[in-house]
Amino acid sequence: MNMSSIDYTPFWDECLKQIHQEFIEDEKESEFKMWFNISYVSSHENKITASVPSSYMNDQMEIRGYKKLIKEKLLEISGLDLDLEIIVIKKNKTASSSIETETSETKVETKHSFETASKEDEEKKHHPLLNPMYTFENFVSSDENEFVYNACLASAKNPGKGYNPLLIYGGVGLGKTHLMQAIGNELYKTSNLKIIYISAENFTNEFIHSLQSKTQSQFKMKYRKADVLLIDDIHFFQGKEGTQEELFHIFNALYENNKQLVFTCDRPVSELKSMTERLRSRFQRGINTDIHMPKYEIRCAIIEHKMKLMGKTLPSEIVDLIAQNIQTNIRDLEACLNTIVSYAELTKGPFTTELAKKIIFNTFTQEASPVSIEAIQKVVAEYFNLNYSDMRSKKRPKNISFPRQVAFYLASEMTEYSTTEIGQEFGGRDHSTVMHGCQKIVDKLNSDASFEETIQILMKKIKEFKKE
Ligand code: ADP
Ligand code: MG
Repeated sequence: MNMSSIDYTPFWDECLKQIHQEFIEDEKESEFKMWFNISYVSSHENKITASVPSSYMNDQMEIRGYKKLIKEKLLEISGLDLDLEIIVIKKNKTASSSIETETSETKVETKHSFETASKEDEEKKHHPLLNPMYTFENFVSSDENEFVYNACLASAKNPGKGYNPLLIYGGVGLGKTHLMQAIGNELYKTSNLKIIYISAENFTNEFIHSLQSKTQSQFKMKYRKADVLLIDDIHFFQGKEGTQEELFHIFNALYENNKQLVFTCDRPVSELKSMTERLRSRFQRGINTDIHMPKYEIRCAIIEHKMKLMGKTLPSEIVDLIAQNIQTNIRDLEACLNTIVSYAELTKGPFTTELAKKIIFNTFTQEASPVSIEAIQKVVAEYFNLNYSDMRSKKRPKNISFPRQVAFYLASEMTEYSTTEIGQEFGGRDHSTVMHGCQKIVDKLNSDASFEETIQILMKKIKEFKKE
């Protein structure tokens, strides 16, 4: 990922909006108007640069603790520990000639034109944590998924009153995140409710961070203030007792106050392993509904809809071919469509059905059958001249720790499994051991050019293994 190209504006806008709101609640709006004359300038890597109109204001941001407040809010909203640099851009001069750095001498100015950003166009913006494309309008509903679709719609129309909690489960790429975010997008548009969307993984990371930085109370507060809490992929909480405990209390607090809770999971709740009984029963309390791969006609309709969004067209035989052949999930269907559309644009001559067939069969039908951890373990064991059982055993003889790390890395690169699940397949190892192992391999890849080749060979063998 190219970190330097990340645009943090949505986080920034949401951050100031929330701080403003908090000042209003504390009856300190005039203070906000007085001091928060700060504007977003740019972002680079994990740093945001913002500007204030004078050095004096700059110093006050620091002295009054506003800079710290903004940084904390940014962390709360984005889950990222972003650096904040404040520069001075004087409004009466041209921007380029008047930029001073933070360390420049303090100049007290007596006249300030305090103004805050206009909030008029705020409504038009989208929620910083939600994908604006994930709406109900963009979800093609079908008989198979009518119930889950309607349940989500009902939660968006009557948050906290109907299906609560609402839990959507099903395999990857079938639209769980899309529907969950559609609830968030709809409510963001139609209400002033405070909506929090977070993946279970980020929720866990934030919780751990709050323990390390002794900011547990802020963490608790953040979630307890939510009107609508959307937590994606709760299977990630398996085996994470501390986080489960924390979520249990947040769940109760919100539920008792009729706040809407929505969760997604890759399997039925009853099949979750290492999940405390009391949290499991909370998840099961409201409605649990599963999502399925839609049938052929709906797959065609989804392709047509996605093409309309992209402003592209394809001959109907090709739409038909894709819909017939991609039966794994909608994410694959979308990926296939995108590949074909890009090919069609690159090829000068007519885009034939033959070419489409080639693309589908070469890239998708193989990729569609997922790589298994077993295949990885067998290939790696054979390559390093070990027994397959060594890979899965609890023992840790020295000579197999490196091959095992290689297998961890390959499993994390080539499969959809989480580090927790991978650990379970390797003799019940902890997810942190898996992460550590992967890091070792990444380090080695960075320092040893020939090692890349070994990894490539192994990947090729693993892909071929599943064809046998
Ligand atoms: P999941 O969270 O279940 O793994 P996602 O919600 O990320 O899946 O969906 C994968 C992709 O498929 C997304 O781009 C989503 O917009 C699309 N998608 C899934 N189901 C539908 C549908 N019924 N109509 C339109 N797009 C869909
Ligand atoms: Mg998802």
